[in-house]
Amino acid sequence: METNLSEIKNQMNALLDEAYAKLERSFVTYSELTRVVILNTDADKEPFTAIPVVGTGVIGRYESAWNDMEGESPNIIVRETVYKKLCNVDKALKAKNPNWQLVVAYGYRTLNIQQAAFNRKYEELKPKYEDKTELREAAHRYYAVPEVAGHPTGGAVDVTVYDFAEGKYLDFGTEILDFSTRRIYYGAIAIERKYGREAKDSEAGKNREMLRGLMGAEDFAPYEGEWWHFSYGDKEWAYYRWRTLARKKKEQVQFDDIEYLYGQKNFADITYTEKYKSAAEEKVDAEFVKFAVQKSGRLTDETIKLLESSGIDVVADKGKFFGKCENYPLELLFVRDDDIPGLVASGAADIGVVGENVLIESRCDCLRLLDLGFAKCSLALAVPTNSGIRTAKDLEGKKVATSYRVTTEKFFKDMGVKDIKIVELSGSVEIAPIIGYADAVADLVSTGNSLRQNRLKPLHTIQIYQSVLIGNDKAVNGDKKLKIEKLIQRFASCIKAKKFKSLSFSFPTEDADKIRGLLAACGRVTLESQNPAAGETLVQFLVEKSKLWDVIDELKIFNVCGIAVFDVEGYIP
Ligand code: ATP
Ligand code: ZN
Repeated sequence: METNLSEIKNQMNALLDEAYAKLERSFVTYSELTRVVILNTDADKEPFTAIPVVGTGVIGRYESAWNDMEGESPNIIVRETVYKKLCNVDKALKAKNPNWQLVVAYGYRTLNIQQAAFNRKYEELKPKYEDKTELREAAHRYYAVPEVAGHPTGGAVDVTVYDFAEGKYLDFGTEILDFSTRRIYYGAIAIERKYGREAKDSEAGKNREMLRGLMGAEDFAPYEGEWWHFSYGDKEWAYYRWRTLARKKKEQVQFDDIEYLYGQKNFADITYTEKYKSAAEEKVDAEFVKFAVQKSGRLTDETIKLLESSGIDVVADKGKFFGKCENYPLELLFVRDDDIPGLVASGAADIGVVGENVLIESRCDCLRLLDLGFAKCSLALAVPTNSGIRTAKDLEGKKVATSYRVTTEKFFKDMGVKDIKIVELSGSVEIAPIIGYADAVADLVSTGNSLRQNRLKPLHTIQIYQSVLIGNDKAVNGDKKLKIEKLIQRFASCIKAKKFKSLSFSFPTEDADKIRGLLAACGRVTLESQNPAAGETLVQFLVEKSKLWDVIDELKIFNVCGIAVFDVEGYIP
């Protein structure tokens, strides 16, 4: 029985190998491409252009592992026409799903780099092939022979699709540029499915087909050996066009009719414009969520930390007024906190982080989107320690210094205290009584240290505050709704996570019932795994910070030791 099974397995593998070999033979070969010889010299003069690095349109993003253009160009560069076509593909993608984005992982590559990569592959494969022509064709399947290669023309691109709502790439069956597996062949999904290796309803096959369809609609030629590789204007494209034309017309189409448009270039020889880069970025800017952040103060670090723990990398130079984010369509505006409610209300910013005190005082019409829970403080009414004033009522007819006129006036009105004179100071409020400028202060305190240092004693807490995320109605409920909502969700999960700690420990499986009972009472088990050989059970357990030590003490009663405590980055219930 067993030998039978493994025999069947072997047979299946042999069939699979054969199907793959057949597929490989269908790829366009080096010798076929050498037949393409007529260059359209006018088209070849077309300059190159840089693909924007950030934005919500088509972007160029090198993945570090295979950026061998480093030192030559920080951008991915392609022919101008190719860039325009890619923008059209991105539009077509967004018509299917507004959160999808075309990502170009590779464009132009210098001839020198192409030559070196081909040589490496050639040497690596040498032991496997006796026949020189076969060897060259095999190496060509990985790295094209420079003479016919597409990437050095600026016409070939490696592309994939990112879903910025999901925060990941669409499933194409393999990672882009992962040469470790044959599944990167366009036809691999169908083969694997035929031999039972792939689920019938595989997304990957559909996604490959969709990408090929959209690229094809812009006249890009596909390459059967890599699901991500497409080209326009190079020899491969010319050959592909000839072949499809010939098939369509069912007659001999002369090669002479098919010119290729772009010849290979070395880096020093290319002319390179940024024309489309800036045009695209201008358009893209309108789609960014503009996020106002305090430039430098108590809210700054926590806001940046919140973005980073939400998986958004901030790229901002110290002292600059603008910042970008690597992996979210966000533009940061660094301003004084007092200006944030006005900027948001006017639409100059879409959202912002500000203290409730500043928001209330501004009387601006902003939406409160989320309580952020940091920079907690309160507005305290205080008088000199040596003053005879005991209550707010005693301040009738007296002067109170504050930066928060609106809130302070309302407080005295609510308390029924009349005839208060508010004197406004924008800073250093605490010193007003010392210099005889006021009889009392209404100022922000968090620890009370500053009051004590200035010999002030608190009479009353007027209001308690924290930092909040605010937004402008038009942005939050308009075009940028989805992007802002996703951001709020991510923030909320990070804030929630901060309230938890994660514990990990193992215990004898025989105690499982008791321990499970204890855990169920005070938190949530997120992972449990058995090790029957050792008679142990391993759990991961989420507990509120406030209960952490109680739980640990209880576990000790059950002789549990080796408890590891971790911070939680995010929690999505
Ligand atoms: P900017 O230069 O941006 O105008 P600022 O001096 O007005 O800064 P910060 O002192 O950085 O503002 O405080 C920002 C916010 O932090 C306050 O509006 C308040 O919501 C909160 N906060 C927390 N604790 C305190 C505190 N002890 N004193 C003042 N603000 C505090
Ligand atoms: Zn301020």
